[in-house]
Amino acid sequence: MKKLLPTSTVGSLPKPAWLAPPEKLWSPWKLEGDHLLEGKQDALRISLHEQQLAGVDIISDGEQTRQHFVTTFIEHLSGVDFENRKIVKIRDRYDASVPVVIDEIARQKAVFVDDAKFLRTQTDKPIKWALPGPMTMVDTLYDNHYKSREKLAWEFAKVLNEEARELQDAGVDIIQFDEPAFNVFFEEVNDWGMATLERAIEGVECETGVHICYGYGIKANNDWKKTLGSEWRQYEEILPRIQNSTIDMVSLECHGSRVPFNLIELVRGKKVMVGAIDVATNIIETPEEVADTLRKALEFVDVENLYPCTNCGMAPLSRNVARDKLSALSAGAEIIRKEFGI
Ligand SMILES: [Zn+2]
Repeated sequence: MKKLLPTSTVGSLPKPAWLAPPEKLWSPWKLEGDHLLEGKQDALRISLHEQQLAGVDIISDGEQTRQHFVTTFIEHLSGVDFENRKIVKIRDRYDASVPVVIDEIARQKAVFVDDAKFLRTQTDKPIKWALPGPMTMVDTLYDNHYKSREKLAWEFAKVLNEEARELQDAGVDIIQFDEPAFNVFFEEVNDWGMATLERAIEGVECETGVHICYGYGIKANNDWKKTLGSEWRQYEEILPRIQNSTIDMVSLECHGSRVPFNLIELVRGKKVMVGAIDVATNIIETPEEVADTLRKALEFVDVENLYPCTNCGMAPLSRNVARDKLSALSAGAEIIRKEFGI
């Protein structure tokens, strides 16, 4: 029988300090050339091992081979200048140094497929691979060519689809698109955000998911959250669109957030990766706190569709904190399994 309440992470996990300085985004690589390639694979092995030790059921690559969940994908495309970067305000919130689109974009070669094949050889557990969604990609660069967010999103959807099909062929079980931008630009989600995301999964037969969150636990995001009031109802704008889409799963931020749990009802029938670990604090959740979040979610999602998860990626956390949080996630899920006698 398939294990119920399979646990997973959103995607990113901290890297070892010998590969990239910890606890920051866009952390530069410490190795070069062949040493870097080997170092990335070693980090991936360690990340896999740590996830398995912590009892995680659906394994991710911990994003050990990428500097950033969006810009690394963009930098592998032609038509992009990533040496002469520009500073832009992303998610309407904070400045970031981003690549520049200078010509028609194309995917000349696979981006993560070799990494996925490598991870596939290392474990028999199901694996999940995260890709940036088209809208979040558009929102994490400077466009000097298309001059239209929508037009560029359709181009990205095309190359993401090429990558997704090859990841599926490499044995990936779940492909997840990260779309934190969905939580900010509702009109664009309606106009073209969902449509381009569905284009990205066209013909993909493995499971597909979308992760929508309130961002990494960095100061700009934490400050933004303070302005969102006593109830965060952003998901109310988006989940009805997800419900009517071909996406199989949705990954949401729940624990420690002000998202009303009853909004999860809007995607009844879809699989829901419920964020039961807060990535914006170093305090380790107790298993009982995790179980409590899962119990609240279970009022609005059927038990066979509940996937305990983290609120977002854990790249900016320390390795110890991330490890302990993953163990708490597994222990919390186990409490609920026992309650259901499964
Ligand atoms: Zn996130």
